[in-house]
Amino acid sequence: MLLYLCAMTYISSDVSPQAAIIGAGPAGLMAAEILATQGVQVAVYDRMPSPGRKFLLAGRGGLNLTHSEPLPAFLDRYGPARARMEAALAALAPTEVVAWCEGLGQPTFVGSSGRVFPKAFKASPLLRAWLRRLEGLGVVLHSQHEWTGWADDGALRFANGATVRPDAAVLALGGASWPRLGADGGWTRLLPGVAISPLRPANCGFEIAWSETFRSRFAGTPLKRIALVFGGRVVRGEAMISEAGIEGGAVYALSAPLRDAIAAGGPVTLGVDLRPDVALDDLRVKLDAPRKGMSLSSFLRKQAALPPVAVGLVQEARHAGVTTDLAELIKALPLKLVAPRPLARAISTAGGLALAELDAGYMLRTRPGVFAAGEMLDWEAPTGGYLLQACFATGAAAARGVLAYLAA
Ligand SMILES: Cc1cc2nc3c(=O)[nH]c(=O)nc-3n(C[C@H](O)[C@H](O)[C@H](O)COP(=O)(O)OP(=O)(O)OC[C@H]3O[C@@H](n4cnc5c(N)ncnc54)[C@H](O)[C@@H]3O)c2cc1C
Repeated sequence: MLLYLCAMTYISSDVSPQAAIIGAGPAGLMAAEILATQGVQVAVYDRMPSPGRKFLLAGRGGLNLTHSEPLPAFLDRYGPARARMEAALAALAPTEVVAWCEGLGQPTFVGSSGRVFPKAFKASPLLRAWLRRLEGLGVVLHSQHEWTGWADDGALRFANGATVRPDAAVLALGGASWPRLGADGGWTRLLPGVAISPLRPANCGFEIAWSETFRSRFAGTPLKRIALVFGGRVVRGEAMISEAGIEGGAVYALSAPLRDAIAAGGPVTLGVDLRPDVALDDLRVKLDAPRKGMSLSSFLRKQAALPPVAVGLVQEARHAGVTTDLAELIKALPLKLVAPRPLARAISTAGGLALAELDAGYMLRTRPGVFAAGEMLDWEAPTGGYLLQACFATGAAAARGVLAYLAA
């Protein structure tokens, strides 16, 4: 509230302050909206020909905007980054993201897992309405402007030769997954002297050395109603067999500890419970029945109700020399993960600009007047709406920081 009052005092003076936002993703556009609403002249720059490309891609999966769980549980999803991001996430809480989306004419609904989506189940109508609102607020979008750093006089410099000297700038340059959509992590070279932890895949798949027989038969097949077990955590859900290994929601949920364990010491074993609703002893009883000349795969399909892909996994493990009895294998099938899939194929990015480099208003301590927000910051969270929520919230926090800075 105080920030807004200060800003209004500023804006009641004759000169409108100018802010440049670099990066037209959800974080940058949210910063632009808040600044423009407060009377700041906002110019948004993006290297791509059109804004919000990753936001649009996120829309292909329905655009999980945020999550409806209670705020304390919600905040826990940000792990070690929670302490530094809590204020921003509480200031633009999930309920406010929902209200914002509905205010743009896009009603929302809460899915069975508590995830929140726009009813349109895609991003394009929301993005269109948002861009219209921004245009109405006087925000000017400069596409095909790749920021390349600062000129000697402190101006922001672009690859096309343009330079600008705004009163404040917000960097919202994204992570480095899906680089063809614009965010490629190139900004890490543009901030000398600023602590940046290495960019790593988050919410990613993993590589597995499948046999050619298994790969050719099952790549692209979903593994439904399974549970994955790693490091004492059990995640129920679905996964997908890919050419390179395994991916999908349940894998993403464990991807941070799996990735870190691989980085610490090479391959790790992920446990798969192929029949999480059946107790081991019950399964044993079923599998003790005589095979009566049935092939192993027919027997497993009949007695353990396994789909062909699960039977394939059991056979794959046995060919690899795993000798545990069948019931145990079905309840705890070991999958050796060799490496995370490359960052370019991940849903999001871990690592980035250290939160300790920012003050409480998301301003770089070493560059007064320059703020940062969104996925380029060093936090990670699971899928479930936590990614977009943090981008919106830190974009808003950076905007409030800019208003306070301009007011001062
Ligand atoms: C397949 C997929 C599905 C997803 N689904 C969801 C979901 O359902 N829910 C969810 O919460 N999250 C989802 N996400 C993640 C979410 O889309 C991102 O976390 C979010 O878009 C990041 O926002 P951002 O504004 O920080 O960065 P971005 O959206 O990446 O925007 C950064 C912008 O900066 C621009 N840029 C970068 N460098 C420069 C430069 N040097 N000069 C000028 N411009 C530059 C880029 O062109 C880009 O437009 C998904 C991601 C993927 C890949």
